[in-house]
Amino acid sequence: MKKGILKLAALSVAAVLSVGLMAGCGEGSDDKLVMGTNAAFEPFEFTTTEGLVGEFDGIDVAIALELAKSMDKELVIEDMEFDGLLASVQTGKIDMAVAGMTIKEERLKSVDFSIPYYTATQVMVVAADNTDIAKAEDLKNGKKVGVVLGYTGDSIVTDDLAIAEENITRANRGVDVVQDVKNGKLDAVVIDSYTGKALAEKNGLKVIEDAEAFEAEEYAIAVAKGNTELLDAINTKLEEMLTSGKIEEIAQQYN
Ligand code: GLN
Repeated sequence: MKKGILKLAALSVAAVLSVGLMAGCGEGSDDKLVMGTNAAFEPFEFTTTEGLVGEFDGIDVAIALELAKSMDKELVIEDMEFDGLLASVQTGKIDMAVAGMTIKEERLKSVDFSIPYYTATQVMVVAADNTDIAKAEDLKNGKKVGVVLGYTGDSIVTDDLAIAEENITRANRGVDVVQDVKNGKLDAVVIDSYTGKALAEKNGLKVIEDAEAFEAEEYAIAVAKGNTELLDAINTKLEEMLTSGKIEEIAQQYN
């Protein structure tokens, strides 16, 4: 079964590009649902030898699989940089971005969002023996801070905390900046809570929370503006999975 999906997914790679434009316009005739993501965001999306869909696994992948099933479509996953997801939704390269993506004013200008399916916040990942970072404000004391380019953490550190540019390191993957905390190049990484916890655990680091500085943020699925057909189908299924406890059940499996 898994192999079959894998093979189909491989065969469909070439087709994705050609049907991409149609899919972006919300044509219901296509039998594939193309999800774009950045598979370096454990536990929401990551790669592994035997994933749920080919090498891809995680909470978002499991949710997207349910969505595809409910629409009678085959789920195809396009892995790309987080920064490129919104443009790919806009141009129709992908039907939807499922990437632990937080609903934000700025993003609503270019895409439509589904109902929220998960609530997270930001945390600081620091060395296990760190004693001088207790709140977000402490980062302003000349601390070297890492973030992932274009993530919520990036805008908090850059705009809200206004940390000096020379003290900010931006990477494409959370794991890279977390590595720098581990080897002492950085004092802290500001990153989404679930991913921060997963990365801290793996690397023997610790997580500092600051509920005052870091607001709750809601993850939702992004689709092309005006693609109401797809958005309605997504919302109906998400609503059902939220009510039945299915999303929580999926999340438990990965936490
Ligand atoms: N939730 C964060 C954001 O939307 C990070 C998402 C991600 O890294 N995939 O910016």
